[in-house]
Amino acid sequence: MPTRLIISPPATGKTEYCIEQILGHLKEHPLSQVWVVLPDRLQASYFRRRLAESGGALGAHVGRFGDLYKHILERAGNYVPVASNALLHRIVQETVDAASLVHYAPLRTLPGFILVLRDSFAELKRSLIYPEEFVEQSKNASLAQQELAQLYVAYQARLRELGWADTEGLSWLAVASLEANPALLDETLQLLVVDGFDSFAGAQRRALQLFADKADVLITLVGGENSRRQAHRRFIKTLETIRKELSPELISISHAPTLPPDVLHIEQRVFEAGGESIRTAEQAFLSEMRSPSDEAREALRWVKSCVLRDEVPLHECAIFTPNPDVYQPLIRSAAREFGIPVFFTQSESLTTSPAIAALLNLLSLPAQNFKTRSLFKVLRSPYFSFSFEPQTIDTLEQVSRVALIVEGKLQWDETWERLAPTKADEPIDLDDERRLPGLPRGKDANTLRSKLNHLFAQLTPLDGDHAQTEWVRWLEDLLDTIRFYENADNERDELACESFRDALRALVMSESIAGSRVVDFQQFTSDLQSALEGSALTEPRIKNQPALLIGNMREARGLRYQAVALLGFSEGVFPEVENPDPFLTEDLRAELGLDSRLEREQAGLFYQAVTRTDQHLLITRPYLSEDGEKWEPSPFWNAIRNLFDKKSVERTIRPDDPRSLVDAASSQELLFWAVRRKGLPKSYDELLSRWQALQHARIILSARRAKKPVGVFEGSMPDLKEILSARYAPNQIWSASRLEAYGACPQMFYVSSALGLEASAPPELGLEANQIGSMLHKILEDVYKTAENPTDVNSVLSRLPGIAKEVFATAPQEYGFRPSELWEIEQEQFLESLKVTIQALGEESEGWTPFAYEQAFGIEDLPPLEIQIGEEKIRMRGVIDRLDKNADGQLRVVDYKTGSSHLAKGDLINGRRLQLPLYALAARDALKLGEPVDGLYWMILAAKAGSLKLENFESEDGDGFDAAVEIVKKHLLRIVTGIRSGEFPPIPPKGGCPAYCPAAQWCWRYQGGW
Ligand code: SF4
Repeated sequence: MPTRLIISPPATGKTEYCIEQILGHLKEHPLSQVWVVLPDRLQASYFRRRLAESGGALGAHVGRFGDLYKHILERAGNYVPVASNALLHRIVQETVDAASLVHYAPLRTLPGFILVLRDSFAELKRSLIYPEEFVEQSKNASLAQQELAQLYVAYQARLRELGWADTEGLSWLAVASLEANPALLDETLQLLVVDGFDSFAGAQRRALQLFADKADVLITLVGGENSRRQAHRRFIKTLETIRKELSPELISISHAPTLPPDVLHIEQRVFEAGGESIRTAEQAFLSEMRSPSDEAREALRWVKSCVLRDEVPLHECAIFTPNPDVYQPLIRSAAREFGIPVFFTQSESLTTSPAIAALLNLLSLPAQNFKTRSLFKVLRSPYFSFSFEPQTIDTLEQVSRVALIVEGKLQWDETWERLAPTKADEPIDLDDERRLPGLPRGKDANTLRSKLNHLFAQLTPLDGDHAQTEWVRWLEDLLDTIRFYENADNERDELACESFRDALRALVMSESIAGSRVVDFQQFTSDLQSALEGSALTEPRIKNQPALLIGNMREARGLRYQAVALLGFSEGVFPEVENPDPFLTEDLRAELGLDSRLEREQAGLFYQAVTRTDQHLLITRPYLSEDGEKWEPSPFWNAIRNLFDKKSVERTIRPDDPRSLVDAASSQELLFWAVRRKGLPKSYDELLSRWQALQHARIILSARRAKKPVGVFEGSMPDLKEILSARYAPNQIWSASRLEAYGACPQMFYVSSALGLEASAPPELGLEANQIGSMLHKILEDVYKTAENPTDVNSVLSRLPGIAKEVFATAPQEYGFRPSELWEIEQEQFLESLKVTIQALGEESEGWTPFAYEQAFGIEDLPPLEIQIGEEKIRMRGVIDRLDKNADGQLRVVDYKTGSSHLAKGDLINGRRLQLPLYALAARDALKLGEPVDGLYWMILAAKAGSLKLENFESEDGDGFDAAVEIVKKHLLRIVTGIRSGEFPPIPPKGGCPAYCPAAQWCWRYQGGW
């Protein structure tokens, strides 16, 4: 019986005809072997369902070509087991390792190379191109092609040697068995129905020829017998091949397509030159919106409305996208919000699972020499239990920052060596530049060291090369210890762990089949990563629950739905930009008869996708690209739009457009739209409590957006008055820097002092400002203190080299940093700066004699400064860097600063710098050292004084030291009262917020520019 071929447009009853033929055949020959072959599992299960609904599922096998091949091989007694992903990966890897490569040598260690080779071999096999044939053809070809042929031969030889096949190899074996024994089909196949294909690979065509010799073969194809249409070009090519190879009898179907009128209009006219006839669409189905994310939401909203309003069953709806990598995550998240169960036909790679990504990060630590940033990511990961308290991790992170630990156990060891022999000092509240973080020292340092060393030992892999099975054992032990599987406690993570275990099992199995693969840890992790990249992440799914199908545009064929949404009709997305394959080049493809990568006839895919629906159609596109540029529609979009009256078919949905609440697909969306409309109708009373919460949020937002920060959402905390008044009671001894923090920004004081938070920043090269400040202060103190004559610059300078050397020598221990390779150079630079600054300070100090250094007040048993302001007595403490005396016994206060910003008169007037007048008052009133008449900030690195000097201070209320004190008193009262009454508004300081403000990471009033 000749092969029969049905060729007709979509929705004309081809599948129905096939089912009738099967039923008729089985009725006449109940014991007959009937096979139905479809392109993929999705179409197979669809066909199976339709066959069952027609009452004929019994007696017919429905599957893919691969299933039929297996069946034939089992009958022939030639069945060869199909190798797992891991085994195939292993074989390709071995092949590459053993080959002497020149052209591909730079790629041989890249995991992606193995995956690309596997794809190329699979394509060659599907096209029935045998290795020997390929080698023959490549004799005079490029080096790249010769090496590819060499690898292909070696791969196939190894596969045979082990007695396994790959999926594509089954077709070869089946074809070979049939060629050797055509009688095999007598008992295997009487009727073969091939439905839903738009093209056939070489191996499939050869198999069809063999089947056609013995069995009744019925093939369906979309299109028209004599069609020349662009939309049919893909099918025309296939038709020509079938005609040549199978000489089929063409069967026509007289049914008119049962497509909805608008879709029928497209089917009949799209891409037809001169065939445009403009029609008014029954409803607009071309929707353009801002972004792919908006498209995903719109499509799901539309599906939900089809289900609820038009009573379309969910399993009769489908969304197809041209680029699952982009659209899949967007659809997943919107579907979760809208409560729509979804089923993705394409699984993501296992490496996209957060649990597996965290695990791969952990395994990469030894190769990265325990890079600090990755180490803390691992320590803080919820997937691992390392028995480190969060506080311990914070402390370690602080040590890494202060000690500039970028990577490696060695750098940690150097740091512990410095911290362990020292004792922790009681932190003194000095100015910002000298406030050193409290580091663990002595016993605490040793405890942390042993904890961290234990972690390093746990994560350090076995030495040398080992068999993969041994590596898997090591890994499993580690994962048990850190409770990886127990911590993966949601369904998605659990499924990922299950697939991960399968991948490990497959690695072990591949070793028992192909022999030991002895590799080092790096190669093992690379093998593992490739195996995981090739493994699919199973989607969680509730059994028997109907779900919305989300597929790739390429899969939109064969199946029919009641409602279909197609996404991504913008330029460059669909049709997608086609790139040549660098391995199987276009010339080689033409020579071997493989499909071109550059002419994939996407118009045919588009035609099939558009005609999949029996009722509802939605096509969407994004109109703005990621960088905010206008995104042009794709030619397919334009082709449809040109067939309709534009107004009736196209609509633009902008994010700010008012939407009807009845169209909301989730309660979040409804509330969001209601906020825009400024009202929630009574009919939605069940959402009242959430609506009220949103109104509350609106009050907070408007407070935060107001010009001036006022009110309870802007740092006003009257409820804390009592607690704060007790905590900051009159007996509190303040430091100038704490009060200055409030003066700079009340909220900064609240966050840093009241809450005790610290800003955290990743370690940067070079010493931190507070480490430099502390070192330079110490050197200046000691040189002046020990100079024979502190008023003589040369005498002071003569002390500098020796003292600096001593301070530099102990600085790493003292301040907890790890000297970098630049430390020697940095010392020379500091020394030079100090020389210049001592000379300049000498010139600035004509007539002044230093007499006290690092003079404390209010610390230990030294009396505090007490300032009476009305009824309020404010007590202060601090350390005065240097005190000078003139010939009249009057005093000058000198405060060293390493930086040079905010040391001007205005900073005192606005309350940001209070230190100088306060220290001058302390010298007079607390320490009884004399009458202060001047004071200055000395900028060490700039070698000059700040512009604020007490002697020539001027303000609207008066001049000189007394006027400065009056201003300070006003600020003190304002600050202390503000703190006690819980007033902490976030007011960005003039010139921007300081980087050390702990709130800088989240504060809504943050202003850069410090
Ligand atoms: S970020 Fe700026 S405004 Fe916010 S608390 Fe810090 S200093 Fe104040």
